Amino acid sequence: MKINISNLSEGTHTYQLSTSAEKLGLGSNLIGEVGAHVTLEKSINQFFLNVHASVKGVFVCDRCVRDYEETVSAEFTSVYSWDQDETMDEKDDYYVLSQDQNIIDISDSVKEYVTLAVPLKLLCNTPECEIPLHVEKEEQTIDPRWEKLKVLKQSKGHL
Ligand SMILES: [Zn+2]
Repeated sequence: MKINISNLSEGTHTYQLSTSAEKLGLGSNLIGEVGAHVTLEKSINQFFLNVHASVKGVFVCDRCVRDYEETVSAEFTSVYSWDQDETMDEKDDYYVLSQDQNIIDISDSVKEYVTLAVPLKLLCNTPECEIPLHVEKEEQTIDPRWEKLKVLKQSKGHL
């Protein structure tokens, strides 16, 4: 997922990049084409990139254990510059370009952000989604902090 920045005029440029999930080295539950829509703003000494990436995910639902598909998408910004600027907003990913560099490769950033965008709790969100009957419900465990409080309350009651 590369952008050629040589002889790029100042202003806004947009790109639609794609590669395969496999090439990008994404996890096995992310498959097919990874698309990235890039808005690049070039100013005198830096490139500001806004990237919106998405890929198809195939997951197993945590609740009903069915396979389901869901698009995983991530949005992030990156700044590429020839100058090192320590006052940069820390929220942005900041990359220093070498003087003769004319390619920006966003592959690693896309990989990182898409991987982070995979939900921790995987739910298929279908109306049929239910915990299978043969799977016993996990016993509700009480938060140890609440347990302590309960004991405290009880002992106070005895006073
Ligand atoms: Zn489900």
